[in-house]
Amino acid sequence: MRCLSCHTEDTRVIDTRVIEDGSTIRRRRECPSCHFRYSTIEEIEILTLTVDKVNGTQEAYDKEKLVRSLKLPLQKRPISPERLKRVVQQIEQEIQAKARKDHISTTTIGEIAMKYLRKLDKVAYIRFASVYRSFEDVDEFADALKKLSPKQRKYGKKKG
Ligand SMILES: [Zn+2]
Repeated sequence: MRCLSCHTEDTRVIDTRVIEDGSTIRRRRECPSCHFRYSTIEEIEILTLTVDKVNGTQEAYDKEKLVRSLKLPLQKRPISPERLKRVVQQIEQEIQAKARKDHISTTTIGEIAMKYLRKLDKVAYIRFASVYRSFEDVDEFADALKKLSPKQRKYGKKKG
């Protein structure tokens, strides 16, 4: 890497540290010419995963798409970018764990995202469920809402 200070081509890595649940690597670097010190952050990016859509088509996994789909229901909710980043990491770890032969379905990604969103913020969870699940499965959406609020289950029961 080029030195930010004197633009020497060759900088030295003096320390490598794994941070944030092992998903991020920080390298401390020093320029041998001017001794300017800085660090670089490397984040793991999933590149080999294929996402199977409900309509039968496939697309390459895209982290930005996941982040966008989480940010939308989190609009105006009191969740810091750092917390969202941690949740995205957790979701991606579970996506990798649940993937089979480098494939995962949009439904599974949606379920994983919902699970973590539910723990993070219930308002965002309902928004997510109503926007993303209703397109694919109305019953599952209703079921998800029932699980969220046990009181609502009463209204579905028959009297007598
Ligand atoms: Zn330098």
